[in-house]
Amino acid sequence: MTVKDPELVAIFQRRVLLKKVCRKCGALNSIRAVKCRRCRSTNLRPKKVK
Ligand SMILES: [Zn+2]
Repeated sequence: MTVKDPELVAIFQRRVLLKKVCRKCGALNSIRAVKCRRCRSTNLRPKKVK
């Protein structure tokens, strides 16, 4: 199945960008993550969404 609706594509791309980056090890975590999945640090920052 191919997504052709531009609105759906935009929503999908926004979801991909909704990540948190660990300031300690740089690992990507889900936006809901409280702790880094790699080093368990709580020092996370949201990835910038344009
Ligand atoms: Zn980390």
